[in-house]
Amino acid sequence: MKHAFDTHGAQVRSPTRREFLGLGLRAAALVSMGTLPAQGRESSWRARGNPFALGVASGDPAQDGFVLWTRLSLDPLTDGGIPQDPVGVRWEVALDEAFRRITARGDVLALPELAHSVHVEVEGLKPGRDYFYRFTAGGERSPMGRSRTAPAPDSQPTRLRFAVASCQSYQSGYFTALRHMADEDLDAVLHLGDYIYESGQWGQSPVRRQGPEVVSLAEYRARYALYKSDPDLQAAHARHPFIVTWDDHEVENNYAGALPSDDATPEAFLARRAAAYQAFYEHLPLRRSSMPRGPDLRLYRTLRYGALADLYVLDTRQYRTDQPCGDGIVRRCDGARDPKATLLGAAQKQWLLDGLARADARWTLLLNQVPFAQLDNDPGEGARYDTDKWDGYLTERKTLLESFRGHPARPVIVTGDMHANVAVDLKQDFEDPSSPTIGVEFIGTSISTAGDGDDLPSFGEAILRANPHVRFFNGQRGYLRCTLTAEAFSTDFRVLEYVKRPGSPVSTRATFVVEAGRPGVQTA
Ligand code: FE
Ligand code: CA
Repeated sequence: MKHAFDTHGAQVRSPTRREFLGLGLRAAALVSMGTLPAQGRESSWRARGNPFALGVASGDPAQDGFVLWTRLSLDPLTDGGIPQDPVGVRWEVALDEAFRRITARGDVLALPELAHSVHVEVEGLKPGRDYFYRFTAGGERSPMGRSRTAPAPDSQPTRLRFAVASCQSYQSGYFTALRHMADEDLDAVLHLGDYIYESGQWGQSPVRRQGPEVVSLAEYRARYALYKSDPDLQAAHARHPFIVTWDDHEVENNYAGALPSDDATPEAFLARRAAAYQAFYEHLPLRRSSMPRGPDLRLYRTLRYGALADLYVLDTRQYRTDQPCGDGIVRRCDGARDPKATLLGAAQKQWLLDGLARADARWTLLLNQVPFAQLDNDPGEGARYDTDKWDGYLTERKTLLESFRGHPARPVIVTGDMHANVAVDLKQDFEDPSSPTIGVEFIGTSISTAGDGDDLPSFGEAILRANPHVRFFNGQRGYLRCTLTAEAFSTDFRVLEYVKRPGSPVSTRATFVVEAGRPGVQTA
């Protein structure tokens, strides 16, 4: 192929030596020298097949680029079969699907210390347009991906469209929703967590088997590889850039900061968290700023989509204090009002409040994991709240609600976790239905978790009856499709008929609109 290098000045920065300190000196030395492995080593494995069995992905769009991701593996159901050496990988970004007009390319090393994953931060591209990308290694070529840069920060895009995904349990059903998402015209997919489930088998008859609970790095890697082998997940990644955060199941059900929900010691749990965070980084299109350091990984961040939307990606797991009142759906206790109770941790909370105070985009979108609105689960006289959600952290929620009140863009929160579609008016005082509405939350249902589902399950009826600020509830599988213009923020609840068999059609169950300057959801 002709050497059409950097025709638009695109470039990629190699990771600094310091960024690789946690990964061993051999890797750091190789990266700083930019040494590629001898070609002879590659010939010993490339005869065995195509090493892109886990697909390709892109993520975290900026106005001038995005992250490209792949992980070399010859077989998702084993350790991948790639020799324990660094492997040279070429990446190419083009303006056309035939790759005649290549606008950026480069070579990187896939390191065994990072499970032969590749993260390329492409720069120098043009804002708000589509690009195509692919990788080559050992003479084999990857599938092609498409990505899209964000609009220029001060531009006024006429329309943005995002899909919102969460909770993809492999054993609960097929990822048909992701296949339909791949057919949408989107700027990005916002994935709000439970990308994998760490758990062992649920119930007697899983739709697909995923094996026992995972704890070690090798086990988390294998779990990601299994999920990544899914053709519908691969299709969604190849078609759209993803902006991802996590919830609990990327590590362990309902963990809180350094506290496990099982009886592991804090030391053992932090070792597990480090393994889980590393595997998360290795399998998702994240920037170097999210390189894990032991049990720590900086995931909260901001993305700007022109003057139309600022996206705040939250992490409500890594820094949170323990769930109060016992972890579950319980009567409210004093612990929920503890001023020290936090989901964000002090640094992230300050980052968010500072950002909201300065935000000047038309829409401010918070990518949140667990439901923000008050949700009473008791349809009768009593009140019972799920303390794993913001309902367990009332002081911090009140602080955020107060910051929304003075905010011209009246933030819109998108949330996963609940395995249900919900549209909610956020009230200044949830106990008083006549208090002002000062924001909106759209909760998106699961991709597959909880199986086929129903339009209105009994717990949905209870929630609707007990919470007048909840405007809509649906218990099917699917995803949100959010369309943003200067005038309105519109959310389509896209639902499937079933997930226990492949091939369900998708339809729009309901559409709700937020008009700019008028907080609260309206029926479309
Ligand atoms: Fe979930
Ligand atoms: Ca969850």
